[in-house]
Amino acid sequence: MNETSDLLNVDSLFSSEELALRDKVRSFVDGTIRPNIATWYEQAVFPAEIIKDMAELGLLGMHLKGYGCPGRSAVEYGIAAMELEAGDSGLRTFVSVQGSLAMSAIYKHGSEEQKNQWLPQMAAGDVVGCFGLTEPTAGSDPGSMKTFARRDGDSWVINGSKRWIGLASIAQIAIIWAMTDDGVRGFIVPTDTPGFEATPIGPKLSMRASIQCDIELREVRLASTSVLPNAKGLRGPFECLNEARYGIIWGAMGAARDSYETVVSYSRERLQFDKPLAGHQLTQEKLVNMALEINKGMLLALQIGRLKEAGQLKPHHISVGKLNNCREAIQICRDARAMLGGNGITLDYSPLRHANNLESVRTYEGTDEVHTLILGNHITGIPAFR
Ligand SMILES: Cc1cc2nc3c(=O)[nH]c(=O)nc-3n(C[C@H](O)[C@H](O)[C@H](O)COP(=O)(O)OP(=O)(O)OC[C@H]3O[C@@H](n4cnc5c(N)ncnc54)[C@H](O)[C@@H]3O)c2cc1C
Repeated sequence: MNETSDLLNVDSLFSSEELALRDKVRSFVDGTIRPNIATWYEQAVFPAEIIKDMAELGLLGMHLKGYGCPGRSAVEYGIAAMELEAGDSGLRTFVSVQGSLAMSAIYKHGSEEQKNQWLPQMAAGDVVGCFGLTEPTAGSDPGSMKTFARRDGDSWVINGSKRWIGLASIAQIAIIWAMTDDGVRGFIVPTDTPGFEATPIGPKLSMRASIQCDIELREVRLASTSVLPNAKGLRGPFECLNEARYGIIWGAMGAARDSYETVVSYSRERLQFDKPLAGHQLTQEKLVNMALEINKGMLLALQIGRLKEAGQLKPHHISVGKLNNCREAIQICRDARAMLGGNGITLDYSPLRHANNLESVRTYEGTDEVHTLILGNHITGIPAFR
């Protein structure tokens, strides 16, 4: 936010290291993502060539410590997510899938051997990981998954299907969650294992500069050492999802801020009825409402980040942030699109691209309804999921 839009001096709540990181990621977004994003989006291209740049910036597994990971704080990770998503949600999603989902699964639930084998290569961007939880018939209710892993002597053999799995067609390893005789377990599956097949889903109207896939697993045979030893039950994937949801709380505000800034500058320049659009009272009201929600959303993200840093973060905190910030961000992006008039439907302006991306962001990592039900349960003590 610039000086006139940072209505509460939110910037003063960040340390100088946090602000320096913000500036570094912002300048990467300005130099590498902004000039190309319209083309990538229109052509539905994920720019794999910038993975190494993101690794060099310390964006992969950013908040993990040791094993070659950057070891930055929760707030620093959030700030990076916000700056990346001001560029495009698809690029923030890459960092989220790699760091918060695939690397976190190994970091939280893996053996020392698994961590040493995979995390340094993933932090360096040499190995891409994906995270396969959702299935064609198991989305909001992952406990109903049908993918099954059976023991066969010293091996595990997995059969099943996964859907919407980010990066799967370019990943070298997949974290696959499967039912076993012992409940849900996680497996590290090299994607060149016979029987593993990932097919990109398309055409999409959202997240066009990123990849999501269907995965088929047919008699995928793995060594006994492929299971994540410390993940038993749905707690395993849920702990990783909470990491990714945390990044979204910040990221959504990045998309909202970029849309807002676009429309502030457009409405100052564009003349209708003999004066700038920004000089009309109805326009000012829209800009003010956007700025209020962005300032509130930033404070919310920062409070959740400080709770995370203090080790006090609870699942309902995450739901407050994900539900509110996605809901407000998508509204801001849609309003900004309308304020651009006809020009707003072209890729020359970011708000409709952001709004379309946020349709995915409000759906993945728990839909609006799922987070509402989590909060409803927290407030009333009555689960209303089924
Ligand atoms: C771009 C994108 C990237 C993704 N990346 C990944 C990934 O990397 N890995 C992965 O495992 N998954 C991924 N997903 C999947 C995502 O997490 C699921 O789409 C999400 O959990 C919702 O599941 P679903 O699409 O099956 O919808 P459903 O669960 O079928 O829900 C459909 C609608 O019903 C509502 N609904 C469901 N249950 C209830 C209820 N109890 N009460 C009221 N309403 C309800 C939902 O809120 C939603 O509006 C991704 C999805 C997208 C779109």
